[in-house]
Amino acid sequence: MALTASFEGIALQDLTQVRRIDPMLRQIVEAVSEGRVRAHLEALIRPRDPYAGYTSMEAAADFIAETLRGCSLHLVEERFRCEGRWYRNVIASQPGSCRDGQVLIVAHYDTVPNSPGADDNASGVAGLLEVAGVLARYRFKHDLVFIAFALEEYGNPGSLYYVERAKACDAAIRGVFDLEMIGYLGQTQAVPPGIQAPAVGDFIGVVGNRRSEELVSLFKETAAMVVPSLPVQALVVEGNGENLPLVRQSDHTPFWEAGYPAVMITDTAFLRNPHYHLPSDTLDTLNLPFLRQVTAATAASAALLAGFA
Ligand SMILES: [Zn+2]
Repeated sequence: MALTASFEGIALQDLTQVRRIDPMLRQIVEAVSEGRVRAHLEALIRPRDPYAGYTSMEAAADFIAETLRGCSLHLVEERFRCEGRWYRNVIASQPGSCRDGQVLIVAHYDTVPNSPGADDNASGVAGLLEVAGVLARYRFKHDLVFIAFALEEYGNPGSLYYVERAKACDAAIRGVFDLEMIGYLGQTQAVPPGIQAPAVGDFIGVVGNRRSEELVSLFKETAAMVVPSLPVQALVVEGNGENLPLVRQSDHTPFWEAGYPAVMITDTAFLRNPHYHLPSDTLDTLNLPFLRQVTAATAASAALLAGFA
């Protein structure tokens, strides 16, 4: 990828050096606000499941829509029916100057029952909303599309529905950044057999398949440049991850299946976070400086993939 290749050989230690490379990238990274991320989290965290949490799930969708509309983005609510009930994906887009490609930032907003879902996945949605707000101040060549998916926890019918329609109209998706639990740091890190990773859960993971290898590199190299103190572990799986089912457990998988490049950006979920899918998945367990760094790396990567106009 030309953009990342042009940064090769530049050893960056801190933001001072980023300033010399690309002032717009620096501005984007510095604009990402921990305070706003916290405010988004506070608005979202409570059970948001389709059963006892239905009202809060709908309130979360309203909050997401309102926040994205507040960034002056074009908003569409994509409604789909599942087991006799209607659900919605909240989609906001910022048209690019070329209109010949799309960069997607996605996260699911539902939870399992009886979990307030702070890390899973208010963290991803809060990151998405912050990226949307910061990037709305710039113009890009390609479209930016922000999607909060419903029902990821229930076999991801929300992202399946979206991808089916995107594929049918031959959407030119350049890459998908799926934010799937991005707020937890842990002393211990479980690692599946055959995977190389540190024993301490202090890194963010970026997972792609072969078709998404350039996207994995883009995120890793961009993070190293703009937030050099954030450790990133990259994993590229064969096929669509069939031999490692846990890497398929989010909304990026329908994009892989449809042949689109997509990465899951994740703190590795239950391999690290003991509160996964429990009532104890609360705001006080999250590490907000870490969440801010991951959000900043995502914003910068999406900006590079979308291309400054
Ligand atoms: Zn999740």
